[in-house]
This record gives sequence, C-alpha cells and structure tokens, in this order.
Amino acid sequence: MRTVISGAGISGLALAHRLAALGGEVVVVERAPGPRPQGYMIDFFGPGLEAVEAMGLLPAFERAAYDYPEGHLVGEDGRRRATLRTKGFARGRLLSLMRPDIEAVLAEHLPAEVEVRYGVALTGVDERAGGVAVTLSDGAVLEADLLVGADGIHSTVRRLVFGPEERYLRYLGLHTAAFTFDAPDVHAATRRAFCLTDSADRQMGFYALRNGRVATFLVHRSADPALPDDPREAIRRAYAGLGWVTPRALEQIPPAEEIYYDQVAQIETPRWSSGRTVLLGDAAYAVSLLAGQGASLGIAGAYVLADRLAHAPSIEEATAGFERMWRPVVEERQRNARSLARWFLPSSRSDLRIRRVVLALSRVPFVTGFVTSALTGKDVRLADILPGTPVAARTRP
Ligand SMILES: Cc1cc2nc3c(=O)[nH]c(=O)nc-3n(C[C@H](O)[C@H](O)[C@H](O)COP(=O)(O)OP(=O)(O)OC[C@H]3O[C@@H](n4cnc5c(N)ncnc54)[C@H](O)[C@@H]3O)c2cc1C
Repeated sequence: MRTVISGAGISGLALAHRLAALGGEVVVVERAPGPRPQGYMIDFFGPGLEAVEAMGLLPAFERAAYDYPEGHLVGEDGRRRATLRTKGFARGRLLSLMRPDIEAVLAEHLPAEVEVRYGVALTGVDERAGGVAVTLSDGAVLEADLLVGADGIHSTVRRLVFGPEERYLRYLGLHTAAFTFDAPDVHAATRRAFCLTDSADRQMGFYALRNGRVATFLVHRSADPALPDDPREAIRRAYAGLGWVTPRALEQIPPAEEIYYDQVAQIETPRWSSGRTVLLGDAAYAVSLLAGQGASLGIAGAYVLADRLAHAPSIEEATAGFERMWRPVVEERQRNARSLARWFLPSSRSDLRIRRVVLALSRVPFVTGFVTSALTGKDVRLADILPGTPVAARTRP
C-alpha cells in the first residue's frame, strides 16, 4: 500500500514510522523548508507514551526529555505562590520534551525507505477509482492508495476534501505564542522548576533548557480570533506589566519567523475520512493546549490508524474502524479541556485564589487522584483500545 502523508509534524512522522514498520510504502510532504525549529515544551504522557514504547522509541524520547518534578506559580514580585508536583499529575510517567526534539527523534528513526520531501506543500487532491492523486506546490503529482492529512489545525487536506476551516474550528477565546531566548538571569531564576506567572487573563510560562536558553509560552484572552500582523508587537502589548522576569523575556522576543503564534482552538469534524483520504492529529481532532495532550493523541492516533490499516480488510474499513475506536477518546479530551478553560487561565483574583488552593490540595495523596482526573480526563490505555494487539508498553510505574 502506498500512502502520502501531508505534514511532517508529530502525527505525520509517527504514522510514517508505523506504516513503514508494517511494510507500507510512504511519502511525507512538508510545507516547511526543513524541520521546524519553533519550539515549546510538551508534557508527554498517556497513550502517546505507550505508543512510543511499543514503537521502540522510548529510550530516544527519554534521552531528549527534561525533568521538571515541580511547577511553580509565581507572583509579580517573584515569590512562589503555589506548587504543583508534576509526577502525580499524569497518572503515570510524564516526559517533558521540546516539540522540535520530538519531531527530530521521530525523523531520525524513520526507516530509510520513507521519503520525506521538505519545502513542498500539498495543493490539490483528486479522488480516483481505487486511489488518490495529490498535487504538490512544485508541480509534481503523486499517486497513492491513501492520503493522510496530518497537516495540523489549519489543514489544507481538510479544507480541500471536507470544506472550509470555519465549519470545523472552535475558537476558545485565547491566543498563544511561544519562543526560546537567551537570558542567563531568567535561566537562573527558572531552572529549578517549570514556572508560570500567577496572573489573570494572560500568563507566561518558563522552562529552563539544557543549552542555557529558556523556552517560554504565552497565552492571553482575546475576543478576536484574528491573528495580529505583527506578533512581536502584539506580544509586547499583551504581556506588559506582569512583573518578575517577564520584562527580560519581552526584551528578547526573536524575529517573527522564530515565533510560534496562533489561536487556541479545537477541531471538530463530523467525519475523519472520505473515500481514500483520512485526517489525523490536530487536522482531525485538535484538543488545544488546554488539554495538554495533542501530541500524545497525535502519536497514539497514528498507532491506532496504522494498526487498522494493517488488519482491516479494506482501506475504507480501516479508516472507519480508526474513527470508531479513537473518536470517543478525543471527544472526551476536548470536552474536558473546555471545562478546564477557567482554571487554565483564570480571569479574576478569586479564581486565581481557588486555583492556588486546588494545587496545594493536589499534593495530598488522597486528593491527587481527583485532581488528576479533572485535569487529564479518563485513564485511557492503548491496549484497551486495540484489544488483542500486542501493545506490550506499560510505561506506568
Ligand atoms: C503552546 C502549546 C503547548 C502545547 N503543549 C502540549 C503539551 O503539553 N502536551 C501535548 O501533548 N500537546 C501539547 N500541545 C499540542 C501539540 O503541540 C499538538 O497537538 C501537536 O503538535 C499536533 O501535531 P500534528 O502533527 O497533528 O500537527 P502540527 O504540529 O500542526 O503539524 C502539521 C505539519 O503539517 C505541515 N503542513 C501544513 N500544511 C501543509 C501542506 N499544505 N502541505 C504540506 N505540509 C503542510 C506543517 O508545516 C506542520 O509541519 C501544545 C500546543 C501548543 C501550541
């Protein structure tokens, strides 16, 4: 079976890895000229971690990971106001990895037969009897048995095959941005734990990296989903006056092409497949950063899809089976994420206070389970989704 995957992000690369391991022929096309350097820290746990172990990639993920045993909520004056123990929070193991590092591990471990074409975008899709023809921005036309749209929240495949983005994108009222910068004083101030400003309607998070740099992610409320023409200026304006190390970070904003900036949104598509085209990852079911599990669900989704393609009697039955098994998992995560919006970014002093109390209580063993369920949703194991499949992975302690 020949598969074309649009998008060399986490979901697309994971699927390429898995399909090639199962004997398929795979071409990945990626719009970016090379691996994307724009980075933010990803908390990686749950079914995605199980899939990574089943794919034999856990040691490489562990080598690339950071360990932040605690998270601190920090006030304008630099004082710690609450602490979260990240270990208990994920109901099992949690690895923190920069997004480009996850993509690098997946890309480095791709079997040699997988072709990855950087710098070419998918621009057209033509369904044919028994297959699909894909047009690329360089004029090439690729014939395949299956096209997978793993091209992210603003997916081109989804627009071409299923219709305009407005039908499927649910804006959650927030903008987010992320970048890395070099400031030894900020690195020193944040190196013991993941730090988040304890501020209403806008917050900045900081992770000290091994190379001396700091990764920051930012999120603020905005009624207007439209993205700014000048993200650097928009960031300076939205995050002015937060105190502590934030002015130093705002001095270090890199050029626009090194900044990740987007709406915070979910994708809800009534169907994930049409004929010989199927959507995967954020393109099909973005859960948003409020869920903190999009990467995990992208990799685990790729694992489930590849399994169905290897075992179902036809491609159409495989894609339908994938959706039947995986949709309930992601819909539960999406609902959970929406219900968390108030606590992810509180908008009043009293909500900030409640969040601090809940975090303090979450350190009490008896309460940890309740907080974990509220934050991460139901416990899902890959082996329960794919009964009979030898998912030997048990990454939980
Ligand atoms: C600030 C932030 C923090 C997050 N934190 C977490 C976290 O803690 N834990 C977690 O699990 N998840 C987290 N997420 C979510 C996670 O990053 C995403 O869910 C995940 O990266 C989605 O991967 P993907 O491969 O499906 O899509 P993407 O990463 O969007 O990849 C899509 C790829 O397709 C390419 N592409 C687009 N159009 C075309 C085209 N026409 N032709 C060819 N290529 C194309 C793009 O260039 C891109 O490389 C976070 C997200 C953000 C923004």
